[in-house]
Amino acid sequence: MSHFLDHAATTPMRRAAREAWLEATGRLATGEWGNPSSLHAGGRAARAAVEDARERIAAALGAHPTEVIFTAGATEANNLAIKGWFWGAGGEPAAIITTAVEHHSALDPGRWLAREQRARLSEVGTGPDARISTEDVATMLDEVLDSGDGMRALISVQWVNNETGAIQPLTDVAALAQAMGVPVHSDAAQAVAHLRVDFASSGLTTMAVSAHKVGGPVGTGALLARRDARLAPVEHGGGQERRLRSGTVDVAGAIAFAAALEETVAARDAERTRLAALRDRLAAGIDAAIHDVHITAPADPDAWAPHIVHAIIPGAPSEALLFLLDQAGIEASSGSACTAGVVDASHVALAMGYDAVRAAQTLRLSLGHTSTDADVDAVLAVLPDAVAKARASVGG
Ligand code: PMP
Repeated sequence: MSHFLDHAATTPMRRAAREAWLEATGRLATGEWGNPSSLHAGGRAARAAVEDARERIAAALGAHPTEVIFTAGATEANNLAIKGWFWGAGGEPAAIITTAVEHHSALDPGRWLAREQRARLSEVGTGPDARISTEDVATMLDEVLDSGDGMRALISVQWVNNETGAIQPLTDVAALAQAMGVPVHSDAAQAVAHLRVDFASSGLTTMAVSAHKVGGPVGTGALLARRDARLAPVEHGGGQERRLRSGTVDVAGAIAFAAALEETVAARDAERTRLAALRDRLAAGIDAAIHDVHITAPADPDAWAPHIVHAIIPGAPSEALLFLLDQAGIEASSGSACTAGVVDASHVALAMGYDAVRAAQTLRLSLGHTSTDADVDAVLAVLPDAVAKARASVGG
């Protein structure tokens, strides 16, 4: 039996979500439910189910139902928030202030707009713990606002880093931005399962969430957008979701997302304590057993999400280590993108100050609702041998 330590990539569906999803899929597959935009009885039944899901998701995230725009996941939501903001005022020159450690779905839209369109992009760097400083954001914002050309600005800062588990100082960033009248977007894909997320009091204008990070299905998510968010659609079509997102809404996905989110939020505070204890035991065990390892935990323990242990293991290339762990029954990740089986140097580790060699010697172990002590024991039992073999494979 293998041990799954890759919940940050995707977490198994929760039972309530699975049941809701299968039931809804059955109704859609047999034609009992139709397209939620259709006016006949089957369409109206599907619409009622979507609106019920929207209300439950809004309640779980501290938002108003009209603020929930269903998307195909956090990737689409991040693109809509960032490109949609840029085009929302006609594509005039505008500044985006973001961090160098965003997930690619939040980083690359801004980089593309800077390369191909008239956006000016500033990427805030981080310390060795992958946390940004609010002062750095303030400095960059001052530079933009003082530049004298009246340029609009957007701040986009992730809530929790998906490679290291660092929690960003979002409350401070949002307060700073609000004082300047600047909107803030946050990619909250890694936050919702573990931290209290209340959209209304967050100070955010937009926020991206994903169903499969909370025990819902892959391929569903949402952009939460305040009514006063000035966004343009990225894709054009039927305008089903607030005229901002087109395409037939994934009814079963929305229902299952709502079920997963409700269960997640109900268990969240207790789970945070339980997972943090597993995380601490895992990190301490790795630190004690592996020579020369760097656990990249945030300096402030309150800024460390409970579900991720990330380590740089000098001399052990990620893909060799992941292969050896997999053979030993441990499903883990490097944390960074993987192309055709080769682990790319992590842009997050590079931003944290590691060189390109170290940035491809990373290991991310991530926990979730099915994690147990046995998973931690299993990793600690096999990791020293796997690291020794990975190091030997490159003569390290
Ligand atoms: N942002 C973060 C922080 C993530 O961890 C992920 C998933 N790896 C995404 C965005 C993308 O989410 P989705 O798979 O729903 O597009």
